Amino acid sequence: MLRVMKFGGTSVGSVDAVRQVTQILADAYRQGDRVAAVVSAMSGVTNQLLEAAAQAAAGNDQAHTQLRQALIERHRDTATALLTDSQRQHETIAHITALADRCSRLVESVHVLGHLSRRAEDWIASFGERMAAVLVAAALNQAGIPAEPVESDQIIVTDDQFGNASPLLDVTRERAHSILVPLLERGMLPVVTGYFGATLNGAVTTLGRGGSDYSAAILGYALDADEVWIWTDVDGVMTADPRLVPEARTLPAISYAEAAELAYFGAKVIHPRTMQPAASRGIPIWIKNTFNPDHPGTRIGPETVPNGSVVKAITAIPGISVITVEGSSFLSVADVTARVFEAVAKTGANVYMIFQASSQHSLGFAVRQHEAAMVHAALTREFELDLHKGLIARISEDSQLAIVAVVGAGMKGTPGVAGRVFNTLGQAGINIVAIAQGSSELNISFVIAEHEVARAVPAIHAAFGLASVPDSTHGTGITEPVTRSAVAPGN
Ligand code: ADP
Ligand code: ASP
Ligand code: MG
Repeated sequence: MLRVMKFGGTSVGSVDAVRQVTQILADAYRQGDRVAAVVSAMSGVTNQLLEAAAQAAAGNDQAHTQLRQALIERHRDTATALLTDSQRQHETIAHITALADRCSRLVESVHVLGHLSRRAEDWIASFGERMAAVLVAAALNQAGIPAEPVESDQIIVTDDQFGNASPLLDVTRERAHSILVPLLERGMLPVVTGYFGATLNGAVTTLGRGGSDYSAAILGYALDADEVWIWTDVDGVMTADPRLVPEARTLPAISYAEAAELAYFGAKVIHPRTMQPAASRGIPIWIKNTFNPDHPGTRIGPETVPNGSVVKAITAIPGISVITVEGSSFLSVADVTARVFEAVAKTGANVYMIFQASSQHSLGFAVRQHEAAMVHAALTREFELDLHKGLIARISEDSQLAIVAVVGAGMKGTPGVAGRVFNTLGQAGINIVAIAQGSSELNISFVIAEHEVARAVPAIHAAFGLASVPDSTHGTGITEPVTRSAVAPGN
């Protein structure tokens, strides 16, 4: 059995957390399984790195020295508390300091240039994971497990879409086989950095924020792993974000498609692209709580597991803007639509929802608020002449909105779900800005004011009785696929 186990920022964010991670990895290793670990940066470190890089570009000549000090202090203090052997402690701190020095020099060069390129930003952002891997490997060695930190720019090969790179899976597979497999065969436990890879030319690229989950699935694919385990700070994928809905329940099993839909529409617990490589090889993904390892967590796999509820979960994405293009009857709807989305695609902005009724000459779509000005400017350029001639009436932006999505494969062909959602919102007096339902019928999503999310999500959660859905698959007739282990994690 080969398992890839990924630990998120909170799971490696403190001395106690790293001790817990060491225990989990050591237990799995001692059971005789081959284990590859993937680690995120300590919580808050990636934000700190990006902030320092931005400050340096904006002219702050102290940003790199302040960053260096903060990085060294946080990781050194953790190493000192964690490691008892003075030689090991000394070597680990020297390694961390060398990484902080390299990172600080990069931030300094951003200041000298007065410019932060996407490429430099990704390189700088990768240092949190590099330092965390050194710490976790040292803690494992202390526990008697032969472990080694491995930097993922040696293994995960990607395209050059800095900030949101995609893996080149075949080359990555070759690298994993030449670097990680020999380590695993020697009985080592590789501790691989999450979040980043590199282009074929060696330029560091990141897989998007929260991308360490994706790294784990890419490595699971590349190593033909039996399972990928994502260890985080909640008991699994839940019926809603427990920070918004305290009575949210853990979903024992969901499909890859449902998980991707939930993640895409805001469930931060898993990166939306994680499911792609796992699904292509049918590798199950378990979501588990580092701080409550006895809880069975959530299994994400090929099959949809009915739990007696048509709706599985409610998610939300705050910080959304809706852009509306209002045309006139002189332009064809198809022509305007094609030009709008070609112009938007060139900006690289992600479009979350599209709303249009072809009888109306208006087209709306939702983007992240921080990308809205860029999108608006691109459309104004594209339609400059049409605006001037009055063929396009206006291009407008509404901000401080949120998308809420109601997700579940059981909605397919079940009438009345939309009615119940909108009735609930109506009773709560929440205005709906726009509505969309994908033809896959996996979700119904709609746009509301951002400040209404805290009322809307709990109200819909209650309307579908999600606080009382069974948290076990017993009696559903669903059994584990025969080709995979039927042993629940934690046993
Ligand atoms: P990690 O650092 O381990 O990657 P994240 O902070 O990225 O962890 O993701 C875990 C967080 O996701 C949880 O603390 C929780 O607040 C949030 N979350 C949002 N939606 C959900 C959901 N549907 N189920 C579980 N957690 C969710
Ligand atoms: N450390 C990275 C981030 O904060 C990646 C991750 O946590 O998955 O986005
Ligand atoms: Mg995460």
